[in-house]
Amino acid sequence: MPTPSTPQHARIRTIEEYHEAYHLSTRHPNEFWGEVAAPFTWRRKWETVMESDMAAGETTWFAGARLNITENCLDRHLAQRGNKLALIYEPNDIKERHLRLTYRELYQRVCQFANVLLNNGVEKGDVVCLYMPMIPELTIAVLACARIGAVHSVIFAGFSATAIADRVNDARAKLVITSDGLNRGAKQIPVKRVVDEALETCPSVRRVVVVEHLGWPVQMQAERDVWYHEEAADVAKTCPAEEMKAEDPLFILYTSGSTGKPKGVVHTTAGYMVWADYTFRNVFQVEENDVFWCTADIGWVTGHTYTIYGPLLAGSTTLMFEGIPTYPDAGRFWEVIDKHSVSVFYTAPTAIRALMAEPLDNVLSYSLDSLRVIGSVGEPINEEAWHWYNEHVGKGRCPLVDTWWQTETGGIMISALAGVTPSKPARAGLPLPGVWPVLLRPDGTEIEGNEEEGYLAIKQAWPGIIRTTWGDHNRAVQTYFAPYPGYYFTGDGARRDQDGLYRIIGRVDDVINVSGHRFGTAEIENAINEDPNVIESAVVGYPHEVKGQGIYAYVICNEGACRNEADKPRIEASVIETVVAEIGKIARPDKIQIVTGLPKTRSGKIMRRILRKIAEGDTSTLGDTSTLLDPAVVDDIIKGAK
Ligand code: ATP
Ligand code: MG
Repeated sequence: MPTPSTPQHARIRTIEEYHEAYHLSTRHPNEFWGEVAAPFTWRRKWETVMESDMAAGETTWFAGARLNITENCLDRHLAQRGNKLALIYEPNDIKERHLRLTYRELYQRVCQFANVLLNNGVEKGDVVCLYMPMIPELTIAVLACARIGAVHSVIFAGFSATAIADRVNDARAKLVITSDGLNRGAKQIPVKRVVDEALETCPSVRRVVVVEHLGWPVQMQAERDVWYHEEAADVAKTCPAEEMKAEDPLFILYTSGSTGKPKGVVHTTAGYMVWADYTFRNVFQVEENDVFWCTADIGWVTGHTYTIYGPLLAGSTTLMFEGIPTYPDAGRFWEVIDKHSVSVFYTAPTAIRALMAEPLDNVLSYSLDSLRVIGSVGEPINEEAWHWYNEHVGKGRCPLVDTWWQTETGGIMISALAGVTPSKPARAGLPLPGVWPVLLRPDGTEIEGNEEEGYLAIKQAWPGIIRTTWGDHNRAVQTYFAPYPGYYFTGDGARRDQDGLYRIIGRVDDVINVSGHRFGTAEIENAINEDPNVIESAVVGYPHEVKGQGIYAYVICNEGACRNEADKPRIEASVIETVVAEIGKIARPDKIQIVTGLPKTRSGKIMRRILRKIAEGDTSTLGDTSTLLDPAVVDDIIKGAK
């Protein structure tokens, strides 16, 4: 997509250009990123492009520069794209009206919201927490924070009062933005009431701004709570953008908590901006008329980078959806794609697996002709889900990008560039320019060559690298930079195939060692999911007298496959046979438990650390379960444990 003057390396279109950009970006990062960053609006240019001491966990990008990211998301586009659609909002309830905002309208609404925040005492550097449904005001409020130099911390609006209080207190937020209530499928949730409960233990909060959404009556606390629509009634539709330093914090975002207590990841202004824009345009090969839909909630990093910042920086049209994939029925995603002519669609394996389990008619009755590129993020996508997505959604004609990245990386790190670099089932693919992945042995030495596997680490700073964990830099150093000095440690294991493509095999903590053979969870689950009886599975290791570790598999069956107890032995035998055929005898599960649900984080990822405790028979302490979606699932699994 052309920006004022697109430099040579800002947009890759062929495999040759990819190799050239890759080489330059990793060997001469200052030259490369200096060129890519040039077309943005800078109030003052940088003095240095990158300065980095990975061992100390200290990196700066574009130091000395001054800018405001919202001038790059909004003001910069007004001259040429003022009347172009910036944002499409599709509500939960199909009967409600959707909303469309042009770049000019979005700009005005962001400025209004920014003025309301200023009038309510928010100053540059203050932290503002947002606990809101997926409505346009969430995007607007995020950008309003950035406009005035406040640090946004979005908390997924499904978290409990305790989880909110933890995050608000960790950041010492001064102001919270919420709504009266939210819709999620057939459920309605009184969000403001949850915030009220949380704030009983949050002394730093002086003000709560409430956005009216469902028109519900709420208890407004005098001196603390204000209605957004009242505050916005007569504020200006312009608001000067605060001049920020390149390394001023832009936002705090807590990780999903799959492996432990969530970490308050901090991203800063200039590097994150360049990375969000660059990865968005190149991975999805975005064109001027694309309508981009990322289904992730803005409470997760995927929503930050690919619902808000990436698309708006690139001058694209972004779609926000308030609802869930199965409401009013399992055709909703596809209905929305046809309705708004979505051309790039980005979702998570958990959603695909859920929709795969539904009758195929739900997808086949929509045309999906507008689609051009489809993507996946959040977990390894197993081969069966990859093929279903490719065949029934992409119709075999849309490149499928499986994008590996983390909250800490700010944007996509390893992925195909749609239609340009190779895309193969169960492989994230080649690294993006600027990303230098290595495979490490446990002793920290690098593994050379292909057809190898090890701990995935990154050897050089990229623009979106995590800068710190909020209020506790040492935690960032200990988690990411100290384990293997000189590298950013991802915590994931990976394999490099014969073509140099990366395959993520699971979390390092979850690796299972059977008689000296190391297995990633993803590869055994991938095999189990090939079984015709199975829709989803999770495997963990447990202590085994002979093998060191045994394999414990939790399996969810396809509808109708397991009607009663008598069906179970047949299914277990079939699963074992499938794994033996796919991987070999050594990966044969020792125990198989058929379950109706798996413990997942609220972002839809399997929490294997809880399953490991159950497999080990140690259910007295399950660790931090605050980010668990449905605790009842855990009780059921414990009851049926083998
Ligand atoms: P925590 O760090 O608190 O345990 P989390 O790692 O689940 O939580 P995120 O930053 O949301 O929090 O997720 C990043 C992780 O998700 C990656 O480290 C990886 O394990 C997994 N992941 C994301 N995308 C992919 C993908 N395309 N393929 C395989 N794994 C992926
Ligand atoms: Mg993580």
